[in-house]
Amino acid sequence: MVWFKSRKHGRDSRERTDKGEHIVVENAHPAIVDRETFDRRKALAAERRFDVHTSPARKVNYLLSRLIVCDVCDNHFGGRRLLQKGKDGSTTERFAYYCGGYLSKGTAVCAALPIPKHWIEGVVLKLVRARLCEPDSLAEFEERVRNRIDAIRREYGSDTRAIEIGA
Ligand SMILES: [Zn+2]
Repeated sequence: MVWFKSRKHGRDSRERTDKGEHIVVENAHPAIVDRETFDRRKALAAERRFDVHTSPARKVNYLLSRLIVCDVCDNHFGGRRLLQKGKDGSTTERFAYYCGGYLSKGTAVCAALPIPKHWIEGVVLKLVRARLCEPDSLAEFEERVRNRIDAIRREYGSDTRAIEIGA
């Protein structure tokens, strides 16, 4: 699994990062498994059903979509909701990032493991929080928030419409 292959550049484009900036996680792809385990997992996989038709009201934000690049097939990971049927007939929702190579063409193309959404986003948020709390970052963050408030105050003065329209 390779992270940070590109960074945001301007508003809508991305630029490639240097190899030294990549975050590489080795062996994110599965080890060779014995036949019995493989067949069992394959049978389980056949019962899985991706549900991509989520209603807009229930839209899920996958914060890390396109930021994770597969080290097996070079495709980007994307978020999917997975409905798992329990033995008692109940359905459980799970959210995870899957390799785009697997999503479009199956395990014949790529057998990289999915990454649970809540877990990986928790790890990233924890790191972001730690980085944000470093003095330089905190100072920049404060300055940006202050500048934004100042700009809105300049535009609206003490007009409370700024609050009402959520400026
Ligand atoms: Zn892949």
